Amino acid sequence: MDNHIYDVIIIGGGPAGYTSALYTARAGFDTLVIEKFSAGGQMTQTSQIDNYPGFDEGVDGFTLGFKMQNGAERFGTKTIQSEVLSVQLKDKIKTVVTADGTFRSKTVIIATGADHKHLGLKNEENLIGKGVGYCAACDGMFYKDKTVAVVGGGNSAAADALLLSKICKKVFLIHRRDTLKATKVYHEPLMKTENVEFIWNSIVDEILYDETVNGVKIKNIKNNSESKINCDGLFISIGRSPETALFKGQIDIDEFGYIKADESTKTNIEGVFAVGDVRTKVVRQIVTAVADGATSSHFIEQYLAHVKGE
Ligand SMILES: Cc1cc2nc3c(=O)[nH]c(=O)nc-3n(C[C@H](O)[C@H](O)[C@H](O)COP(=O)(O)OP(=O)(O)OC[C@H]3O[C@@H](n4cnc5c(N)ncnc54)[C@H](O)[C@@H]3O)c2cc1C
Repeated sequence: MDNHIYDVIIIGGGPAGYTSALYTARAGFDTLVIEKFSAGGQMTQTSQIDNYPGFDEGVDGFTLGFKMQNGAERFGTKTIQSEVLSVQLKDKIKTVVTADGTFRSKTVIIATGADHKHLGLKNEENLIGKGVGYCAACDGMFYKDKTVAVVGGGNSAAADALLLSKICKKVFLIHRRDTLKATKVYHEPLMKTENVEFIWNSIVDEILYDETVNGVKIKNIKNNSESKINCDGLFISIGRSPETALFKGQIDIDEFGYIKADESTKTNIEGVFAVGDVRTKVVRQIVTAVADGATSSHFIEQYLAHVKGE
């Protein structure tokens, strides 16, 4: 156990987490970010972000994440790369347990964001990295000139299919409905792309593999007919779910798994705040995540002044 007591521990180094860190460190608070992978969170899965102001030609997610980390560290934020395994949030001094040690803090900011939803198919987990993927921007190049299938019909699936169509020989887009839910910006270009074939009203029933994926068995949910397509990779793009398993039982969470917190970012526990995609909100984007980061710092400052004055 590290005996040091931080003012602020932030779990998650995405845009929300590093913006909280920038503001709290700049306000003079002793701030630690714990991130299990690399700075940037979900942003690292896209090479082109066009709607984050200040980058007139867009920016890739890795670069933006790295810049956010550097910006926060310029004011003294420390980063530890480790996964948070458990937390104790109810006491005045909070405890955060990682694979690399236990840390203590007067406040905790939860900025764990969201992760890909899984289909829950047999062998899906075992085949991750062996043909099953959740991020076309990250893994698409492994399938250069090959055939892949994408599952889903929303913006992520459409964006993934479009991106893969530029790399792969052929892309099957498998969707349980008969139209895409994706917005026009993806819809139109996708419909015009010759190497994309749509498989409507269908679900993936089974992943076929030898050592790696070599096909999928699909079922038409309208007429129950089954068929098989050969493919080298399967990208599952069916949305995301919040990373809140760690906090269940300690903090108020809504029916969809999001931490209940309003614009103030305050949770039901004193000294614990939730920022970015992980909290209940309407729009989950980089700009709304960074806005939460700034707001959390304001209320942390208030909370720490109050605790000090007790
Ligand atoms: C492919 C893709 C493209 C996107 N494109 C855009 C776009 O163009 N414009 C836009 O505005 N938004 C875009 N978004 C959405 C945007 O990336 C998110 O809204 C934003 O990243 C949310 O930020 P966050 O900090 O709340 O969470 P996240 O970015 O999810 O970051 C959470 C961080 O917490 C870490 N973490 C989680 N659990 C733990 C743990 N137990 N221990 C330690 N660390 C942990 C994760 O590793 C992650 O780094 C895109 C998302 C995706 C997936």
